[in-house]
Amino acid sequence: MEIFKKIAPFRAFLKEIRGTGKSIGLVPTMGALHKGHLALIKTSQAENSLTVCSIYVNPTQFNNPVDLQKYPRTLDKDVDLLEKVGCDVVFCPDNDEMYEGESQLHFDFGVLDKVMEGRFRPGHFSGVALVVSKFFNIVLPDKAYFGQKDWQQFAIIKKVVEELKFNIQLHSIPTYREHDGLAMSSRNLRLSGVQREKATVFYHALMAAKDQLNHGKDVRDVKLLVNNMINGTQDVRLEYFEVADSTNLNVLDFVNGAKKPILCIAGYVGDVRLIDNTFLD
Ligand code: AMP
Repeated sequence: MEIFKKIAPFRAFLKEIRGTGKSIGLVPTMGALHKGHLALIKTSQAENSLTVCSIYVNPTQFNNPVDLQKYPRTLDKDVDLLEKVGCDVVFCPDNDEMYEGESQLHFDFGVLDKVMEGRFRPGHFSGVALVVSKFFNIVLPDKAYFGQKDWQQFAIIKKVVEELKFNIQLHSIPTYREHDGLAMSSRNLRLSGVQREKATVFYHALMAAKDQLNHGKDVRDVKLLVNNMINGTQDVRLEYFEVADSTNLNVLDFVNGAKKPILCIAGYVGDVRLIDNTFLD
């Protein structure tokens, strides 16, 4: 497995690969890798000649400095894991390599970055769009892989690809879960044993909400139910629960007639912020 920390030699390496007609798949991550990330890697391996995994904790997408500071960093372990699953290339730059001073480039996505995550994490998606654009420009992959868990992020990246005319096919991979339903997340590493148990309430609330909506309950009543389930759990706090049109992320008050609605939830267990979602079927 090749490991690059610098852009110039990484670009030269990829240019040679491309010259031999090989296809390149990119899986951008912030590390602390788990089986969810590996599902993305595996899909890329099945669909491309060469798979690149980037590991970079991007400061411009953190609106909360404590969250950035406490974000788990396990690079050595991640590299071992990637080697074991046969990933071809790891790109793990530092901040100086990715940013020369403070970036003045900001993105505005209209509705897409004003609701849900965008409402509670101002500037987050601008930072995501910036770093993903940099990765796309450096790697020039044929395909790039993202998780459904970050559905709003996927919608934003789709917009970036459309607007900036990146010649890249995007793929969204279903959320990989623990045996009890908790969505795998690097942030789960920060949960204590008791908090880890409680964190499943987000999954249970999503499932209960889906069931109620499928039985014709009003979105308003379902929001109340979710609020009670989450905030009724000690040490757990709901930030938002929304039902949205998964294509344009417009928040919905009614699901009747809506195209493929998605149920999105975010909140805290202690000071650890978790998100999850599920499609209404
Ligand atoms: P992160 O390292 O959290 O920035 O995630 C890197 C990529 O992995 C993103 O596209 C995420 O959506 C995806 N991802 C994170 N958790 C999961 C999961 N449990 N299942 C599938 N993909 C995931």
